[in-house]
Parts: sequence; C-alpha cells; structure tokens
Amino acid sequence: MSFADLGLSDELLQTVTDAGYTEPTPIQASAIPSVLMMRDIIGIAQTGTGKTASFVLPMIDILAQGRSRARMPRSLILEPTRELAAQVAENFEKYGANHKLSMALLIGGVSMGDQIKALEKGVDVLIATPGRLMDLFGRGNILLTGCSMLVIDEADRMLDMGFIPDIEEICTKLPKQRQTLLFSATMPPPIKKLADKFLENPKTIEVARAATTNANITQWVVPVAAQASEKRKRLRQVLQQEGMRNAIIFCNRKTTVRELNKSLKRHGFRSGEIHGDMEQPQRLAELDLFKRGDVNILVASDVAARGLDIKGVSHVINFDAPWHPDDYVHRIGRTGRGGATGIAFTFVTPDDAENIANIEKLTGQKIAPLDLPPAAEEEERPKRVRRERPAREDRPREDRSAREERPREDRPVREDRPVRDDRREDGERPAAEAPAYRGEDRRPPRDERRDRRPRRDGRDEGPDDGWNGPIPEFLMVSLNR
Ligand code: AMP
Repeated sequence: MSFADLGLSDELLQTVTDAGYTEPTPIQASAIPSVLMMRDIIGIAQTGTGKTASFVLPMIDILAQGRSRARMPRSLILEPTRELAAQVAENFEKYGANHKLSMALLIGGVSMGDQIKALEKGVDVLIATPGRLMDLFGRGNILLTGCSMLVIDEADRMLDMGFIPDIEEICTKLPKQRQTLLFSATMPPPIKKLADKFLENPKTIEVARAATTNANITQWVVPVAAQASEKRKRLRQVLQQEGMRNAIIFCNRKTTVRELNKSLKRHGFRSGEIHGDMEQPQRLAELDLFKRGDVNILVASDVAARGLDIKGVSHVINFDAPWHPDDYVHRIGRTGRGGATGIAFTFVTPDDAENIANIEKLTGQKIAPLDLPPAAEEEERPKRVRRERPAREDRPREDRSAREERPREDRPVREDRPVRDDRREDGERPAAEAPAYRGEDRRPPRDERRDRRPRRDGRDEGPDDGWNGPIPEFLMVSLNR
C-alpha cells in the first residue's frame, strides 16, 4: 500500500515524500483512512510504530477546512509528558509545513503568559499535558466547546501518572459531537472503561506486536557487583570500548542519574543528564546537546526518556536493570532505530536475577552474558582527567553538606507515602490523591509496592518512572521499526 491510497491531500503526500517516507507503517495504513472518515479510533500501538503521523497527518487535512476562533481550539491532543507533547508539536510543524495551521503547546515549566497569548489568537491544534490544560481551563483562558477532535495519546501512561480523572473531566468539557482517537500501548481495564465511556463505535487497530526485540540490537547482560562504586567502574570500562559512539544510560532513580552523571564528568566523560526533576528548558537543552553530539553520553531516567526519538544512538546501557520488562524493551529501543544497528548492555547484580528472567520471558530471548576482563580502572581512565583527588563517590556519602544540598525529593521517603508523584515530574499540579487506583483496589499493585519499599541505605526516592501498568498479557511490544 502507498500513501496515495490513504486519501490524503496532494499537499500532504508531498510532505510525506519530503520526509522520506516511502510507504505507510501498518498503523498509518489502518488508521489514516478511518480518521479521514471521522471515525473514533482505538489504536493499540507504542512509540516507534509511526503512530504520531497516523493521527497528525489526517488531522492536518481535516483541519485545513475551517478557521480558528479566539480561545476556542479546534482540536486537542493530550500527552502525558512535556517531551511527548513537544515531539508531537515538532511533528505538526514538520508535516504541516505546506499548511497554515496554528498550534499552541500547553505544558508545565513554560511561561503561562505566552501560552495564553497564543490561545487568545485562536489555535487549530492545542497540544497539552492534562495538568496545565486544567489550570488554564480553570482560569477561564480556554473554551473547549469548539473542539471537535480529541486525541488521547499514550493512555496507559496517563493512567500510570494519575491523569485519568483529569482526562474524564476534560472529555466532559468537549462537545458530545466530536471525533476521539485514543492511543495506548496496552489496554488495562481503566483505559478500556475510559474508551467505552467516551468513544463512539470506535474502530480498534492493533499493530503487530511481535514478542521479539529488534533484531538489529545486540543485547548483553553484564554481571556486576551490587556496590555502586563497582558498577560505576564497570560502566567506565564499558564506555571505553571500541565503537562506543554515543550512549543513553538508564537508571531506575533520579538520584542515581544525578550521581552517575557527576561521576562520569569527574572521570572526563562528556555526559549530560535528563530526569523528571529538571525544568523543561533544561531538559530540552540537555537533549539538544546530546542530539548535536556536544555530549555523547546521556544519563536518563525512564520518565524523561520515554518516547524519545533520537536517531543514531549506538548504545543503550541499563546501569540498573529495569524493574518492569516492558521498560527494558522500551529502553533498548532507543538504539537500533530506523534500520541502524545498536548494542544494549544491561548491568545485572545478583539481586536482578528475577528482573532479567522476566525480561527474557517477555522477549522470548535469552540475553547472553558479556565476558569482560576485570576492570583495570586507573590505566583505563581517560587522559583528560587531571585530578588525582579521589572521586567523590569513593568518599563516605552521607556527609552533612551532601545531605543539606539534596533537594527535598531526594530525602528518604516513608514507606506509606506514595513516592511516585509524576505530576510533579512534569511541573504540573500536585496529585491530591493517588487516582491511578481510583475505583479499584486502593492498594497499589504488588509490583509497585515492591518499588516503594525504601532501600536499606535509606536513600530511596522512588523510581523516576515507577509502575508502568500491567505487563501486557499478549506481549504487546514491537521493536521492529
Ligand atoms: P512514532 O511512532 O510516531 O514515534 O514514530 C517513530 C519514527 O518513525 C519517527 O522518527 C517518524 O519520523 C518515523 N516514521 C513515521 N512514519 C514513517 C513512515 N511511514 N516511514 C518511515 N518512517 C516513519
């Protein structure tokens, strides 16, 4: 099938050709004609399948007719994180190059004044995270009654982040007569309920989700000692291997991201960091440095890196084995994109055996251990490092100043306090409750309870990503992009 068969306008066909796409991906082939026919859609697909274009392209053609009015956006796209919202906006700019559509991006961490000004002018497409949208709606800056098209993207992620009650409320503010598109990698019961309530006779599209990981990614597990300094030593050894052009290093906690980045810099590596505690401009700046190659190592947490589409990443290193197997597939999918080859290393401590077993069960593949020679740290340290002073990580960690410097969020958490407040991650309104479990068993799932347990060292700040929804029962991951 070609793009010309999908019913898109000539202008868009030109845009798609300019983007270098030769044929539609499966989700695009199924969704685009139905969206153009104004049907509601449930798209079960994850990032990397071309799902963004599957709604952005037909939306551009639909919105090409008609005009926007002040404070009354004509369409609304809800995204769980600022990064995803910014990426969808980039897609609109790219695919809408031959159209004159106006767009506004409402995300936390960006000046509200500019956003309000944009809304005042009238926008065709409003791309928002739920918290910021609700804030502006509450202040009377937006009227959603003219919004005849709604996209709820990454719905399962919205669920994890406690946004479902907000989304329900937003749905009730939109006109009943509208088109709704819902995309989700998995379909847990609360998402199914949401779809039943707010979508009308939807067409369900599922893209092939082979249980295999991308064949272009060579995967290794690297046995390491549980001790942080030993892990860092091993990491430096891995980073100095031949062919290591650039790497995204994933950690399970924000604290680890920060500490690891500092440690790598001290050892002369060109590294940056991205995690949920950073302000939006800072996150984007770090991403830009990595994209441009000014730094070639990006230490990241799951929440900040989810959905990132960065081309040409040669390596992914899981400094911490992910707690959830679907995170593994997602993380390593940052390399081997667009037909390129990639290498993924996962550090495993003796405590990680169960996590690795779950990953292997999900992907249906055994991951071979990498036989590295013992780390000869001092000889292998890059020449750039001049300081002979022992690295800070080797000194006792709980000195007073370090404790005082640590932001509030880094302090040990009480077991009974929900440690994952993802709204705050996005600079949005704090969650008044833990609504992800609303209407269900108030006790979080077993996995999450495990994640909330403070570590023995008392430094646990909780995962940056946290519970990522139930493990998809039908292995709904596809890394074949
Ligand atoms: P997404 O799943 O929307 O995050 O898209 C993942 C990547 O696929 C993005 O870099 C898109 O530019 C790219 N992409 C989208 N559609 C196509 C297509 N039909 N052919 C080739 N690449 C595409």
